[in-house]
Amino acid sequence: MQVCVIGCGYVGLTTGAVLADLGHNVSCVDIDRSKISTLRRGDVPIYEPGLSRLIAENTASRRLSFSTEIRESIVGSSIVMIAVGTPPLPQGGVDLSALEAVVEDLGAAIKKPSLIITKSTVPPGTNDWVAESLSQRGLDEDHFDVVSNPEFLREGSALADTMNPDRIVVGARTPSAVEIVRDLYRGIDAPYIVTNLAGAEMIKYAANAFLATKISFINEIAKICDACGVSVEDVASGIGADHRIGPHFLRAGLGYGGSCLPKDIRALTHFAEGHHQEPHLLKAAETVNNLQIDVYLNKLLKEVLKNKGTLEFSNLQITVWGLAFKPLTDDTRSSPALRLVKRLVDTGCQVRTFDPVARATIEGADSCSKQYRSLQGSQALVVATEWNDFVEANWSKVLSKMDGRIVLDTRNCLDPAQVQRAGLEYLAVGRP
Ligand code: NAD
Repeated sequence: MQVCVIGCGYVGLTTGAVLADLGHNVSCVDIDRSKISTLRRGDVPIYEPGLSRLIAENTASRRLSFSTEIRESIVGSSIVMIAVGTPPLPQGGVDLSALEAVVEDLGAAIKKPSLIITKSTVPPGTNDWVAESLSQRGLDEDHFDVVSNPEFLREGSALADTMNPDRIVVGARTPSAVEIVRDLYRGIDAPYIVTNLAGAEMIKYAANAFLATKISFINEIAKICDACGVSVEDVASGIGADHRIGPHFLRAGLGYGGSCLPKDIRALTHFAEGHHQEPHLLKAAETVNNLQIDVYLNKLLKEVLKNKGTLEFSNLQITVWGLAFKPLTDDTRSSPALRLVKRLVDTGCQVRTFDPVARATIEGADSCSKQYRSLQGSQALVVATEWNDFVEANWSKVLSKMDGRIVLDTRNCLDPAQVQRAGLEYLAVGRP
């Protein structure tokens, strides 16, 4: 099939590369000229394991190409996939301006029967609006159909998730549209969940809201465990073994982040309120998440107080390892690690940061390019992202570089015994 993927971000590039690998001719388009130039030079503008290789192989075999000529690519395609960003608005709604621009392009460019597949996460009702807008722009209903096919990939394992998804959700208006989607994904073995447009849109929001709630739930339990000397990991194993609960997303820590969970739970809250429903649970999940930074800062403050006899963070130098919202990605959007660094800076500390891949400029913090050099002169190390480089750190070397001995593990990812054996003081929440 001739496929046009609009939006070359984490979702668009992964989808485009995988579809090309399945044998389709894919044109990935974006308004960002520098992104397209980078891709045309053979570089990949984001960090995603395996993606560079897949893109290189498929561009070499001419099944994958990149362009800024959006309308031209739409004209030549029978499938148009929308993967543009849908960021949050300040009041909690969803900024659909990128999608609106795409609809404008579709209205002007569709000349032959096309299936428009929306992968972007959009509020229920949006794809109905897309179909209506195209009709209003004079497009013959026989010339296009609209499908909602939300994306569930996780950054860091995006390729594997796309090639082996748990399910493929298709919201469609006609059985023939579902058949085209099945043809498109032929070669990917997954159960299909077929519903209408709004049903598919809601599945995506409900899934992310549930995952966010699960994380906030275990973080709440971790605080209680911490107060009474119980291991939250034992509790997570104990409850996760119940198939009704499941073992995933039960890792206590600094809280959820990234470009999806925070924005999607907020968007669903906003959507619910717009429909006069009070989303008590969604709001509670977000409140717990927002407070996680304080939970860890208080832990650190208490320890500093014990060691230095002062309740002040000023005159302290702290190193934070990790900026990405999770390992194996360079994405720092809504990263709890960034929020933590900002809070530390606001409280008056000198902060030094290091991340193996992610780059972020945070006012008041020094970004270091070398992992161990970032520790020079620091009284405490905070591990904020579960990168392997941190999990497998040389703790004797850490001690030799630092001025102090405190290691705060906000991801429960380090081996406390190893850290302590090196002469460091290990701190965590829910790990007695
Ligand atoms: P992204 O910000 O990485 O990429 C979006 C791309 O769209 C950018 O390159 C931008 O330049 C481009 N764009 C914006 N307006 C455009 C236009 N009018 N025409 C062409 N291109 C345009 O976003 P992403 O992380 O890939 O997410 C895309 C969508 O998928 C969002 O709705 C997101 O919620 C959803 N999603 C993301 C993930 C994820 O892990 N990142 C997972 C599932 C779903």
